[in-house]
Amino acid sequence: MGGKDPDYYIDGVRSGNRRILAKTITLIESAHPIHRQLGRTVVDRLLPFTGTAIRLGITGVPGVGKSTFIESFGTMLVEKGHRVAVLAVDPSSTRSGGSIMADKTRMERLSVAPGAFIRPSPSGGTLGGVARMTRETLLVCEAAGFDVVVVETVGVGQSETTVASMVDFFLVLMLAGAGDELQGIKKGVLELADAVAINKADGDNREKAEKARRSYEMALHLLNPATHTWSPPVLTCSALTLDGVDTLWETILDYRKRLSATGELDEKRRRQSLAWMWSRIEDGLKERFYDNPAISDRLGDIEASVERGDLSPTVGADTLLFLLDKDR
Ligand code: GDP
Repeated sequence: MGGKDPDYYIDGVRSGNRRILAKTITLIESAHPIHRQLGRTVVDRLLPFTGTAIRLGITGVPGVGKSTFIESFGTMLVEKGHRVAVLAVDPSSTRSGGSIMADKTRMERLSVAPGAFIRPSPSGGTLGGVARMTRETLLVCEAAGFDVVVVETVGVGQSETTVASMVDFFLVLMLAGAGDELQGIKKGVLELADAVAINKADGDNREKAEKARRSYEMALHLLNPATHTWSPPVLTCSALTLDGVDTLWETILDYRKRLSATGELDEKRRRQSLAWMWSRIEDGLKERFYDNPAISDRLGDIEASVERGDLSPTVGADTLLFLLDKDR
């Protein structure tokens, strides 16, 4: 793959060639510096063809019904004529298993739909690494003509915040009647929500779901005060019967319409781009620090001296940072 030039990938992605799209994502996810550099060039040159898709983030605890929901929701959108890409951010994942969506059979119908593209989480190790890959993959999918990109995540560490920072609309799926209504989901996650949907609102569960909806509505009002343009709604849905799934899509379209009209959507994306750049700078600085051989040579000794009290933490830090300067 290293022998191909950027045009091979760019033309392939632009023409919607799935095989080349998948290869481009493999470049982005590669640990090989030459592949990564090529991936960066490709993403950069595809940038003018991105930005028109609806970017949607979805989270919820395991078992809430994320895969079932994305399968139903994605299939509905494909039937409406949309092209849907589904990505995931799961820093705990390894290619061999355990991860969300490692198993495409969880989205059986959607994975074979011609208008859909499903890509499991990269196994990048750190959240920063996984986030970079997913964000670049999102852009490449947009350039390939997918007009709805769904990014799924589970509540691992900061992964929700990371996903919320790369999408236009962040949807939190919840369940009714899991004891305390706020149980099982970190409060911080609700603060990120542009909408909350109580899933599994079907059969005997409907009434409970409606009750939960009302109590979350109150909680959300306190957490996320409505802006002039948007007040995050709490809805109910069933990923199995599809009840309420269409309403959710209408809600997302409504959000997009309102925030586009006021310019808030563009502003949000501009802020996200800048924040993204800064987070790359921070990651890059850390990488440079830890990858520096002069620093790794001294790190253990200096840590031990600081622990023993022979060296002040400030002098220890300055000594190590000085080695970074010397490297230039
Ligand atoms: P995930 O771990 O969040 O991806 O959850 P899954 O999509 O794997 O769903 C977990 C279980 O809940 C599965 O057995 C699904 O069939 C079931 N499930 C998902 N959505 C619904 C729903 O809307 N109603 C009902 N009754 N069951 C559902």
